[in-house]
Amino acid sequence: MNIESESDNSNNVTFRDRVSSVTKTGLRKWIYAAKPKGKFYKYRTALSFVYLLVFFMLPLIKFNGMPFFMLNFPEGKFIVFGNIFWPQDFFIFAVAMITFIVFVALFTVIYGRLFCGWVCPQTIFMEMVFRKIEWWIEGTPSQQKKNNKGELTTKQLIKKVIKHIVFFTLSFLIANTFLAYIISFDELIKIISEPIAEHTLLLTGLIIFTLLFYSVYAFVRDIVCTTICPYGRLQGVLFDKDTMQISYDYNRGEPRGKINKKEERTKGDCIDCMRCVHVCPTGIDIRNGVQMECVGCTACIDACDAVMTKINLPTGLIRYASENEIAKKEKFHFNGRMKAYTTLLIILTVIMGILVVTRKNVDTQISRVKGQLYQEIGNDSLSNLFNATVLNKTRNEFNIELKLENTPGQIKMVSNKKTLLSKESVNELTFFICINKKEIHKRATDIKVGVYKNGELIQTVKTVFLGPFM
Ligand code: SF4
Ligand code: SF4
Repeated sequence: MNIESESDNSNNVTFRDRVSSVTKTGLRKWIYAAKPKGKFYKYRTALSFVYLLVFFMLPLIKFNGMPFFMLNFPEGKFIVFGNIFWPQDFFIFAVAMITFIVFVALFTVIYGRLFCGWVCPQTIFMEMVFRKIEWWIEGTPSQQKKNNKGELTTKQLIKKVIKHIVFFTLSFLIANTFLAYIISFDELIKIISEPIAEHTLLLTGLIIFTLLFYSVYAFVRDIVCTTICPYGRLQGVLFDKDTMQISYDYNRGEPRGKINKKEERTKGDCIDCMRCVHVCPTGIDIRNGVQMECVGCTACIDACDAVMTKINLPTGLIRYASENEIAKKEKFHFNGRMKAYTTLLIILTVIMGILVVTRKNVDTQISRVKGQLYQEIGNDSLSNLFNATVLNKTRNEFNIELKLENTPGQIKMVSNKKTLLSKESVNELTFFICINKKEIHKRATDIKVGVYKNGELIQTVKTVFLGPFM
């Protein structure tokens, strides 16, 4: 037995007194979860291969000579699937963030902690990488428990040291991969090849993150999911009786009781074998009902299905099901809250799509030079001095041309200012706009300036031309 369950009968509610990873005396209860085996575990293993491949390979992929995916938070520069986003595109990220939060809420209302069990990086790295390495080096969970109870032999100590070296190295690799997502893989290689003294700040950050990952995977483990993670803490308010979650079918399973081959069975289908408890990485007994500590890893489904198959009973005593499905035997249905969330999600996704599609690669802001009034040009014209800030978000340099759109007149660049925009840069231009007095009928005239690239109008900017009082 790997964990001492405190819920051996259905009336025992002591599991509510404290989280599963804490003993009666308030100490940490180390969980030696048994190795899961079964259909769901196979699916999760396959998914984790794809997941890890994408995680480690994505920073290496380049598109048009730049990273395919990069989230450079310190510089406010983001490349998502080859498209560069700047701080000026922040509103797109704001909408994306709101869309993501609504998506997570909706997803959780319908599917419970499916994200936690199948794609959360904490679960993937803990259960599919670090846990497997631990089994490989230190043996099965029950062997580990036995070894850790007694005095360590030299062989066991060496194994532990090797394990921690591997854990630390892997944590360092993960921290480097995260850094590559932030500064790009090329920059990371450049930094590695340069003297350490030139990058002490970055190295310090790298070591802090390595230690963080190492401590999470070597020591903190299930406590991240059961106590620290804010998403896990939100479950209580997001779940309702229609939420799909890992559930024990108490109508079918209770009253639970061991198999007695000599008697005719009058009890429920649960034979109280505790396999579902032994295999749980957060140490809970799913038969007590939905608990916040359940990360939806499906290990108990696999364990119970194997037991049911062995004793010739239908599988699914523990399965994905809503509370209403178990209690009232209702089919899954879309309730009002789910419909409201889905509508909101569709609206936000459409807004998001429009923002991305209409996003400009060249963004121009024009304003009159502060403190300057109009100037008289000869007897018949007036001029105003303007500044333009032109953001070139592309990886190419090119010339632009400015033209007046709604008013006859001229734009004269100040001689030392060029209209050649450098790649990925903010360019400052200064120019006069000259308009015939006949066109000016009020103190402030609204004008439009067209921004042209290779003769094609790419943006129209509104500004104000100042004349005399009339
Ligand atoms: S109760 Fe089942 S699904 Fe939930 S964490 Fe434990 S083993 Fe995983
Ligand atoms: S694995 Fe299934 S049969 Fe065994 S205790 Fe858990 S629910 Fe009951």
